[in-house]
Amino acid sequence: MAEFSQEEKDNIEFQFNEILRNSPKCRKDEETLALVRKAFDLANEAHYGVRRKSGEPYILHPIAVAKIASEEIGLGATSIICALLHDVVEDTDTTLEDINDMFGPKVAQIVDGLTKIRGVLKNKEGQAENFRKIIFTLSEDIRVIMIKLADRLHNMRTLDSMNPEKQKRIAEETQTLFVPLAERLGFNKIKRDLEDLCLKYLEPEAYYDILHKLRGSEKKRVHYLNRFMIPIMMILEQNNINYNVSSRSKSIASIYAKMKRKNLTFENIYDVFAVRIILKDVAHEDEKALCWRVYYYITDIYTPNPERLRDWISTPKDNGYESLQTTVMGPDGTWVEVQIRTERMDEIAELGYAAHWRYKNVEGQEQSQFEVWLKKVRASLESPDENALKFLDEFKMNLYSSDIFAFTPKGEMRRFPIGATALDFAYDIHS
Ligand code: MN
Repeated sequence: MAEFSQEEKDNIEFQFNEILRNSPKCRKDEETLALVRKAFDLANEAHYGVRRKSGEPYILHPIAVAKIASEEIGLGATSIICALLHDVVEDTDTTLEDINDMFGPKVAQIVDGLTKIRGVLKNKEGQAENFRKIIFTLSEDIRVIMIKLADRLHNMRTLDSMNPEKQKRIAEETQTLFVPLAERLGFNKIKRDLEDLCLKYLEPEAYYDILHKLRGSEKKRVHYLNRFMIPIMMILEQNNINYNVSSRSKSIASIYAKMKRKNLTFENIYDVFAVRIILKDVAHEDEKALCWRVYYYITDIYTPNPERLRDWISTPKDNGYESLQTTVMGPDGTWVEVQIRTERMDEIAELGYAAHWRYKNVEGQEQSQFEVWLKKVRASLESPDENALKFLDEFKMNLYSSDIFAFTPKGEMRRFPIGATALDFAYDIHS
């Protein structure tokens, strides 16, 4: 067994301690801290001497996955423990019973789900069937999927050390399975990151072309957005509205998709300019009114494009996404996309309903909305007459087109995927 150098051992310890330092949830009591430490010790010992393709100690991978789960997805101590242990059953002598004995049935169940997904991905049944099987783990614990996405994200970020053939295969699998999954569940931040990484390996020329152009125009973009934002900031401050502004550019993959879809050059994509105004300290019942008030201030300064108004607050997307969006004409006649949302909405938009709901203990209406959503996902999986391919098709259709809204005679809104007919509507109303 290959020994690790002292330097490598120190680095492993250092990386693990970063998790404890950056996750308050790990430090909430002695017991939790000890359990996280125990998971690390077990994984560290089980993977000892093993290296990744890149040459670094294997244990740095589960540590990185735990970090992503905690810092980028916002998951708690149980998920960190599971992330640290996610490869031990498959890759080492540690058994599921060992994990059950040491960490209890919940951790064992999640690690088992993660091990099963690895098994599913290895078989050649085809992507539709695999996809269906992966989704099934949803009915066990949604953290399985979230940790799996963290795992995939780290593998994609470290794909450079693989050979080109493997890079392509993994990127394709990510593009067809994990990107839609992340999107459907509303994990937009992960979805964006995964999608950009897929493009990097599947269409490197386009990826680097857009990346360089974005970098090249960054100074100009920042300068322009400052000019655009100053009048808005003034009026928000005059009205004592507490806010943050974020103005990152669109993702590389979404710029590329738009260039292809509309046959445009990079220079002609008009809403590369996008700002997000996040309203802080807003009481739940004031959220909608305040977002519209900010919309009113902004459109008093800049003319909006009426076709580009999206009110995802009155009718949130199926995955829980809420935001008020518009595109306005800024200085020099440039279109700027503006997103207005509260901190709560921003968290759901970035991290997903699941993360927000399950780990923040939000009470009341939201909780039931989440349950409805989860039930729908499960129901569509459990109906026996539905073959997997059809399911994947429908799934994709739901993703790439927006929904249709229809109203019952009593004025109640129902939501359908594009392609739904009057008959679907009738069935939806009457059982
Ligand atoms: Mn892994």
